[in-house]
Amino acid sequence: MRCPFCNHGETQVAETRESDEGDVVRRRRRCLSCDKRFTTYERAEIALPVVVKKDGTRADFDPSKLRASMQLALRKRPVSIEQIDAALERIQEKLLTSGARELPSTKLGELVMRELKKIDKVAYVRFASVYRSFEDVDEFRQLIRDI
Ligand SMILES: [Zn+2]
Repeated sequence: MRCPFCNHGETQVAETRESDEGDVVRRRRRCLSCDKRFTTYERAEIALPVVVKKDGTRADFDPSKLRASMQLALRKRPVSIEQIDAALERIQEKLLTSGARELPSTKLGELVMRELKKIDKVAYVRFASVYRSFEDVDEFRQLIRDI
């Protein structure tokens, strides 16, 4: 397993944990060169679901794209990279344990919103307002009331 940060070939497993369902093994690894930490998931022959967009086209699930949109929503907010990574991990874990082969992009957006709501309300509203492209003012007011 190569380090995703520096591409070093040697990493050490710091922690191994099975998901609640027991079908996904999550390993926390530490790079022996740059000392950064990352997480890997192991599951027998089951990959992350394909994302189905509103127009019906399909795209591979891309964690880096998801991270970029979360970082955009979290711009200038007091939230650490570790918190974003942890949220991304929770989302991926959910997708892996669901076992779904396809995932509507709207559902993915809901998962991101749920995580953002937990870590930063401002980022949540930013993301939601772009994501949902509000139908009317009432919907927006409702959202503000919810948080
Ligand atoms: Zn490294």
